[in-house]
Amino acid sequence: MLRQSDRTNPVEGRIVWAPVKSLWFLFHAFFAMIGGYLTFRYDAVFVSFVFTLTTLCLGHSIGLHRLLVHRSFECPRWLEYAFVHLGTVVGMGGPFRILYMHDIRDWSQRHESCHRYFIHQNPLWRDFLWQIHCDIRLDHPPKFEIEPRVGNDRMYQFMERTWMLQQLPWAVLFYALGGAAYVVWGISVRITVSLFGHWLVGYLAHNSGQRDWHVSGHAIQGYNVPHIGLITMGESWHNNHHAFPGSAKLGLLPSQHDPGWWALCVLRAIGLVSHLKLPADLPERSELVPINQERPNNNPANPTPGNIPLWIRALLTAVDGLLVQNAMLNAQTLFGLPLNWRLFDLSLSKVALCFTWNVRSIAHVNFPTHQKASNRKSLRKTIKHLIKR
Ligand SMILES: [Zn+2]
Ligand SMILES: [Zn+2]
Repeated sequence: MLRQSDRTNPVEGRIVWAPVKSLWFLFHAFFAMIGGYLTFRYDAVFVSFVFTLTTLCLGHSIGLHRLLVHRSFECPRWLEYAFVHLGTVVGMGGPFRILYMHDIRDWSQRHESCHRYFIHQNPLWRDFLWQIHCDIRLDHPPKFEIEPRVGNDRMYQFMERTWMLQQLPWAVLFYALGGAAYVVWGISVRITVSLFGHWLVGYLAHNSGQRDWHVSGHAIQGYNVPHIGLITMGESWHNNHHAFPGSAKLGLLPSQHDPGWWALCVLRAIGLVSHLKLPADLPERSELVPINQERPNNNPANPTPGNIPLWIRALLTAVDGLLVQNAMLNAQTLFGLPLNWRLFDLSLSKVALCFTWNVRSIAHVNFPTHQKASNRKSLRKTIKHLIKR
């Protein structure tokens, strides 16, 4: 993002209806609800579930976010195209549109203040309308330039022009494999769930959760949203991402599930990706301040996380708990092991525990205080400590 003039700023602007984005979502949501009901079959749901996770992990998180936007690892061109195609199939737009949306949001958030559109500071319903159905027109926007390596690439230009049409080969394949049910569940239900989930996670990750880092001078802080690391492919560790945008690893602690990183480690082991960047490989940022989690916060200057409705926390908790439980049961069936009821009970208690934790965190929200990292050494020490912990 380049500054155009002295008046260039991310504050002044107006929200306008974005017909393509809005109708695209409504079209798929309509087919998902009506067609999903009429064609419901367990095998179609299963195919949709697997393809949703694949496109979100390899496509959106690894291909578009960690590779195209942040260049946090390296891989051969053909694999890059495959990742970016899968990311485009998620249904949010072509590669140039994704780059623009990510860059303008990042650029805005790096200012002391910016328009509420960029930082999800709205009631839930209004943020949904704004992010899913509208765009912002800044009065004095910056100039957006795509790096020539991507912008001049014929394949990426083709992917940008045909981002909607890229659903077609998959729709044909699904029709051949399982008829109309596979098309409705594999295309429309998947796109609706992915777009809705992407917005909801973005909302949560800028409103509530836990932080290990504070980035001074930014209009908003990112939060780590616990319990949804698995379904978000690691993207829910958003406080880590605000602190180390160029890191290929988003879940920095052992307890922070990061399927995107696990997939990258497998790809590195078979020699397909290399030069995976970690926080310690990135240049020092003077605005980055580690947060001391032990002491309660008495600093009113710290931003206050919004209040996430209880039913959303309960829903996410239940989904996460069920995912862990299902994965365990499937693993046991796959490997022909007898069902271990003790483990089953443990996973049930995990659901109960998560639920209690969420309810309690609404009652007593303790905002952490932060300490200045005086020099490079102490910052590195903290990073090492956090990664090892
Ligand atoms: Zn963010
Ligand atoms: Zn990013």
